[in-house]
Amino acid sequence: MMAKRLTLLFAMLSILATVLPAMSLSEAERSLRSKNKSEIFRAYDTFKSAYLSASLKGDNTQTRRALNGIVATGNRLHIDVSSYKSKLQALGTVKKKKTSKPATKKVSKGVTPKLLSQNRLNDVRWNEGRLILRFDKRLGKQDVNYFKLGKSGSKGYRYVFDIHAVLDHSRALKHRDLKRITLAQYKPATLRLVLESNRVLKVRFSKRSNTLTVRAGLSRVTSPKTVSSGSKAQRKNKEKIIVIDPGHGGKDGGAVGYKKYREKDIVLAIAAKMAAKLRARGYTVYMTRSKDRFIRLRNRTRYANKKRADLFISIHANAVPKRNAKKAYGIETYFLSPSRSKRATNAAATENRAEVEDMDFYGKNTFLNALNSEKIIASHKLAIDLQSSVLSSLRARYKNIKDGGVREGPFWVLVGAQMPAVLVEVGFITHSTEATRLHSKTYQDYFARGLADGVERYFAKNR
Ligand SMILES: [Zn+2]
Repeated sequence: MMAKRLTLLFAMLSILATVLPAMSLSEAERSLRSKNKSEIFRAYDTFKSAYLSASLKGDNTQTRRALNGIVATGNRLHIDVSSYKSKLQALGTVKKKKTSKPATKKVSKGVTPKLLSQNRLNDVRWNEGRLILRFDKRLGKQDVNYFKLGKSGSKGYRYVFDIHAVLDHSRALKHRDLKRITLAQYKPATLRLVLESNRVLKVRFSKRSNTLTVRAGLSRVTSPKTVSSGSKAQRKNKEKIIVIDPGHGGKDGGAVGYKKYREKDIVLAIAAKMAAKLRARGYTVYMTRSKDRFIRLRNRTRYANKKRADLFISIHANAVPKRNAKKAYGIETYFLSPSRSKRATNAAATENRAEVEDMDFYGKNTFLNALNSEKIIASHKLAIDLQSSVLSSLRARYKNIKDGGVREGPFWVLVGAQMPAVLVEVGFITHSTEATRLHSKTYQDYFARGLADGVERYFAKNR
C-alpha cells in the first residue's frame, strides 16, 4: 500500500517536473543576477522543484546546488530560508562522515513515512445545545484527544479537543453560555476545538462513526446550518481581526538601503501607524511584532491562524543592487496566485510532512485546493484595495508616486495563512527619494492611512 503510494507520488512528481519548470537549473542560476523580480520568482520555483527531485533521488550534488539556489533567491524575495540553510549545512556534515546513509533512507525522511489522506471536517452545528462535528471519514480511537485547562489570567476554564483532521475554511461558532468557542487548524494535521467558559462545565463527548458529539450542559440552541466565514456579515468592525506582520526584525534586518536605512525599522514604523489607525476605527488588530524582534516566518502566519484573523497583511520594503538603485522605485502588493501556489505547495510537499499527509492523491480536490480557492480570490481583492487606497492617499500629498501594481508571487510567508493574505512592498529603500520619504514620519502616516483605508474598503465590499 505504502510502496504503491510512493510510486504514485514519484509518477506525479515526474509529470510535474516535465510540466512545471520552464527554466533549467543553470538558467535559474544565471537569473540570480537579474533584477527582475518575476525572473527571480521563476528561479526560486525552479530551485524548489530541482530540490524536490534531487532529494527524492538522493542526489547530494544536485540537492546542494538546488539548496544554494533556494537560499540565494529566497534572500532576495524576503523568504525565510533558514531551514534550507540548515539543510545545506547538514548535507556538508553528512559528506564528511565515512558512512553516509543510503539514499533510500533520505527519501523516506525527505518525503514522509505516511501518505495517508486526512480526515476532513465536513460540517459543524449546534443541535439542542450539543455541538456536532461531522467528518468525511470514521474517527479512529486515537483521533480525538480531550483535555481541560483551569482558569488563568483573563481566560476562563478551557475544554480542549485536539482532533486529527483538517479544516477547509475557518469557522466562527458562538453559544450564549460560552465566553468563547474556537475551532481552528492548530497544527497541519490537528484541528483544535476550544470551549471557554467562566464557569465549570461538565463536558462529555462521544464518537460514533464519523461524528463527534460534544455535550457541555449548554442551553438548547440549534443552528440552522453550518456557521462559516461567510456569515460574518453582521460582525462589526470590532469583530474584524487583522494581523499586521512587519517583516524581518531582530537579527534579521531585511534590506539595507539609502543612508543605511533598514527595512526592519521602516516597515515596523508603518505597520505600527497602520495598527493605530485601524484600532481607532474600531478594528481588533494584532501585530506579529511590535518591536525589534526576530520571528520565524512560519510563526507569523501561525500566529494569525491562532488569532483567527480575518486578514493577514505582511509589510516589507524592496531593494535592488546599487547599480539599479536610481531606476527602481514604486509600491507593489503581492498575493499568492492559484498557479503559483500550486507550484509552491507542490514544492512544499517535500518540506512539510504534514502537507503531504494531508493530500488526497486519489481525490479530485487536494487539501490545498480546498484550502486555497476562495482564499486566493479574496487575497487578490484585498491586494487591489490596499494598493489603490495607498496610491490615492499618497498622491493626495506627494508627486511621482509610482504604482508597481498588484502582483502574484510565491511568498512563503503567505502560504500557511488560513485567511486572505497579502504582502505589501512599501517601496524601494535603495531609491534616494523613496527611501527619504519612507523614512519620514509624515509619509509613513499617509502610507498607513492608505493601508487602513484599503482594509475598510475591502470589508465594505466583502462583508
Ligand atoms: Zn522584506
